[in-house]
Amino acid sequence: MTVGRYAPSPSGRMHLGNLCCCLLAWLSAKSQGGRVVLRIEDLDQARCPRKFAELLQQDLDWLGLAADEGGDKGGPHGPYYQSERSGIYQQFYEILWKKGLVYPCFCSRSQLHAADAPHRSDGQVVYAGTCRNLTPEQVAERSRRRPPAWRVKVPDETIGFTDGHLGYYQENLARDCGDFYLRRADGVFAYQLAVVVDDALMGVTQVVRGEDLLSSTPRQLWLYRTLGLPAPEFFHMPLLLAPDGRRLSKRDGDESLENLQAKYTPEEIIGRLAWVCGLQKAPDPRTPAELADGFSWEKVPRQDILLPEGLF
Ligand code: GLU
Repeated sequence: MTVGRYAPSPSGRMHLGNLCCCLLAWLSAKSQGGRVVLRIEDLDQARCPRKFAELLQQDLDWLGLAADEGGDKGGPHGPYYQSERSGIYQQFYEILWKKGLVYPCFCSRSQLHAADAPHRSDGQVVYAGTCRNLTPEQVAERSRRRPPAWRVKVPDETIGFTDGHLGYYQENLARDCGDFYLRRADGVFAYQLAVVVDDALMGVTQVVRGEDLLSSTPRQLWLYRTLGLPAPEFFHMPLLLAPDGRRLSKRDGDESLENLQAKYTPEEIIGRLAWVCGLQKAPDPRTPAELADGFSWEKVPRQDILLPEGLF
């Protein structure tokens, strides 16, 4: 059975982009007779207070997009809050450790962002490998000055996959990605490790998420393989942009659910979003359940979606 998921990081009230991702994840799973799991990605607890996770679940209920498992509803694969799963991440971190793939990194932010540092396609810096081959003496000496973050050594290997919506995508891990963080200096595990472990242990077979995470997928596929975990299929959806072309953000209140709820019914919001996503010919009110029957990824645009002026 298809098991989809929502994996929000609730650092504020949901905005239309988050909502659109939930709608497509729900439709994609439900149109195949599947289920949806809700996992709260609150690794950065300071940024993601519980209050927002609770509001998010109320919002999903209100919209008719409640998950079948997870969040405060619980289920067989809990806990569903990443902040409560560090013991689980630790076990998988140790697998990488035992393979000799983990090393401490003492680089400061300014060292990492040196002017000549190569950049990834998503704008992030490709790590130059400065701390990859430190001697035990160097590690001991540097550890006295600052606690290190922890990186994983990636191979010089090209990993490709066929995205269910955007088609083939590949990256050479050494050249395009670089050794990436597994754990922060304060002990918090990194998103890349947590997301792989969680999707596998929660039985997720289908990941629907924003295109901004397309370039994270090759390294995640490599982690699945290295950890001996089954990988899901991936569908990356285009980004939803405000009418003036800026990226939607939780900081700008205008597209947040709080404001939308005051103006529209759930069916009006869902119907308008379905229209911009190509799922119906006019922005008429719809429930998610009504849209599931005719759902097909073929209808969804592959380019960024600009919200028409005045639609919301
Ligand atoms: N937690 C991430 C976000 O809210 C999504 C991660 C994922 O879907 O893999 O952007």
